[in-house]
Amino acid sequence: MIIESLLNRALNPNSYQDEFLSIEEGVFLYENAPTAELMFVANELRKIQKKNSNKVTWIIDRNLNTTNVCTANCKFCNFYRIPGHAESYITDIDSYKKKIDETIKYGGEQLLLQGGHHPDLGLSFYVNLFKQIKSLYPNIKLHALGPPEIAHITKLEKSTHTEVLKALVNAGLDSLPGAGAEILNDRVRRLISKGKCTGREWLEVMKAAHQLNITTSATMMFGHVETIYERFEHLVWLREIQEQKPSGSKGFLAFIPWPFMDDGTLLRRLKGIKNNVTSDEYIRMIALSRIMLPNIENIQASWLTVGKATAQICLHAGANDFGSIMIEENVVSAAGAPHRFTYKQIQESIKDAGFEPQLRTQQYEYREIPLNIEEQVINY
Ligand code: SF4
Repeated sequence: MIIESLLNRALNPNSYQDEFLSIEEGVFLYENAPTAELMFVANELRKIQKKNSNKVTWIIDRNLNTTNVCTANCKFCNFYRIPGHAESYITDIDSYKKKIDETIKYGGEQLLLQGGHHPDLGLSFYVNLFKQIKSLYPNIKLHALGPPEIAHITKLEKSTHTEVLKALVNAGLDSLPGAGAEILNDRVRRLISKGKCTGREWLEVMKAAHQLNITTSATMMFGHVETIYERFEHLVWLREIQEQKPSGSKGFLAFIPWPFMDDGTLLRRLKGIKNNVTSDEYIRMIALSRIMLPNIENIQASWLTVGKATAQICLHAGANDFGSIMIEENVVSAAGAPHRFTYKQIQESIKDAGFEPQLRTQQYEYREIPLNIEEQVINY
């Protein structure tokens, strides 16, 4: 294989449909192409995809947890508690109200609602919750649950992904986050998240969501027990699901890769698996994500996990989105993600990197910063 000819193929937008790069070609570029060349090509692809716009988008939302009770036992997760644990909780409506009021005050219009695989919380719990939130706050968007939770609810209900998704959309679900993808290969999933749905099921839930015209995102948590081949296989599987979406559906609106955060996790304590992803490796993965995923429009740099400086370089390596300021985040932070932004700081960071910050919605539509916005106090 020759680096130049692969990069030329990636750069020629007319050849996308017929000549997506294969898993092996992605691995070859990862192992052999200089970072500067990958960045250059990915940046050119970003410009083509975003029609030469200099805008970098960001969003204001709050990650709220429905419950921390979970039976999946993921070995990278410090957030969950087993059923009956003294620190287990199910968030009550008064807490939602307080936190949504605060989110609106800080300019947000969306909740990223996630939780554990609670053995007793089935479809009616989430339907009632979504309806209650929407009746109190009709304008709040619910970017909620994720394929593993949909798969869990489907099993509890002995139903189908499609029926569960339809009921949730009718109750107020606006979009489905790409949570719980980790690495989709089941060899890896058996080692790190045995209690979660299989990779195939994750993809099937997304396929069902796209059939129903529900917008979604895709993620990858890498840098633990996976091989490089399994990373690129993950990217190609996402690309294939995106290829299968109905023509009127947007499918995956974005791809968000981040490195495994190891602090205090079972993976680190019991298996000695550490996060060894360097800034250079993260930047290369961002660039290769742009190169491998020509049919996913937005690539997000995870400043929460890699920090401001690396995330800024990613904007020159194919990323066009800085994600959320996350008024609250409890899951990745529990494993040591240390970085925080206010709405002013995120915009300054984007400007410092040479781009124009643009507030967006979950649908990646532009929105104005609310006039009466307050700067949040960072306390997580
Ligand atoms: S990552 Fe999610 S599914 Fe896995 S243990 Fe934590 S809460 Fe449960």
